[in-house]
Amino acid sequence: EATARYGARNPASERALAEAADVLPAGNTRSVLFHAPFPLAMARGEGCHLWDVDGHRYLDTLGEFTAGIYGHSNPVIQQAIVSALHDGLSLSSHTLREGPLAHEIQRRFPGMALLRFTNSGTEANLMALAAATVHTGRRKVLVFDGAYHGGVLSFGGGGSPVNVPHDFLVARYNDLEAAQTLVRTHGADLAAILVEPMLGAGGCIPGQPAFLHGLRALADECGALLILDEVMTSRLSSGGRQAQLDLAPDLTTLGKYFGGGLSFGAFGGRADVMSRFDPRRPDALAHAGTFNNNTLTMAAGLAGLTQVLTPAALDALNQRGEQLREGLNAVFAQHAVNLQFTGLGSVMQLHATARPLRSAADLAGADDRVKALLFFDLLERGVFLARRGLVALSLPFGDAQADEFVAALEAVVAARRGLLP
Ligand code: PMP
Repeated sequence: EATARYGARNPASERALAEAADVLPAGNTRSVLFHAPFPLAMARGEGCHLWDVDGHRYLDTLGEFTAGIYGHSNPVIQQAIVSALHDGLSLSSHTLREGPLAHEIQRRFPGMALLRFTNSGTEANLMALAAATVHTGRRKVLVFDGAYHGGVLSFGGGGSPVNVPHDFLVARYNDLEAAQTLVRTHGADLAAILVEPMLGAGGCIPGQPAFLHGLRALADECGALLILDEVMTSRLSSGGRQAQLDLAPDLTTLGKYFGGGLSFGAFGGRADVMSRFDPRRPDALAHAGTFNNNTLTMAAGLAGLTQVLTPAALDALNQRGEQLREGLNAVFAQHAVNLQFTGLGSVMQLHATARPLRSAADLAGADDRVKALLFFDLLERGVFLARRGLVALSLPFGDAQADEFVAALEAVVAARRGLLP
């Protein structure tokens, strides 16, 4: 009944997808965006609002899966892009922009003694893994069940046939003993431990500090590199999750908001590892990419970091996220339904279970239909989030928007009480 009403309300979205399906499988080119019966097609965004092609207005609580921290129309970002545009695109050269952006990132992540840019977080992780295997002369990589490091580095359910053919060992997240056992057996062959400080796409399940620090010690013990994937968690403080936990990885990977909303990735860390990318070295590792220093991304990223996203602004955003998550979970408690939002700061995820979540395995048995129901009901009330339940706040999202979200959830939960666990 909810999807029938959705279909009737959104004929232009349905048509847009159907037309694109002639050339794109199911009309789609980002698997995460697809859901049954068809996803909405958006026409434009402003601040923290979106308008779909059928003319509905939504409160955007998704914020481009954490990349859209500036909102849709930040004037500083817009001005930086326009100014770079006027200087001409694709200059086939070094420009005056990549150095300052790299310096700004290093100021925030001092562990990144040397770094390089890519076009995506996926590429950043691929390059970090390449650096680790070359540096150590080893092949194996320890990752965690439910982790997402990119479209070809995805470990929900253990792995994916499209993953790059590294020699992966997959351990349970937040289970230091399991990791220890694997390291005891394979430590001499281990190039890297690759880990998200919070399972992001895997459900916004925070890594316990003792687990993450334990991985640091395990890497030291066996001579592997610890690669911290902060593509999503870098927004939790101006120095990322590693600053909050006082955790020092060998390499860090970044992406998302550092490009000001344009495509971006970066990997970096220890100088002795990263200097292999110095082209003057006879044994230099190649790292190419036509758009690695594209001027629009460099300009938008630099303007965002230097003029908009001060440490104080970022802390305030994450504080607002904490309050919002409390408000949303209070709705569930008040109606005595077994649902929860997990996460940290301004990033959170809906789950159709109230049990404490420590790893992907704890999600077994949660009924996905419950999330579908809340998703379609919230859309009808003008609140847009990811179909899977991800929420990531943007700077224009203020207290009034938080109240609006909580009120919409409260109405939906009250109306569907009988169908919820
Ligand atoms: N790592 C993490 C933790 C991510 O959340 C993502 C993207 N959701 C990636 C890597 C991949 O980044 P991109 O989509 O830019 O390739």
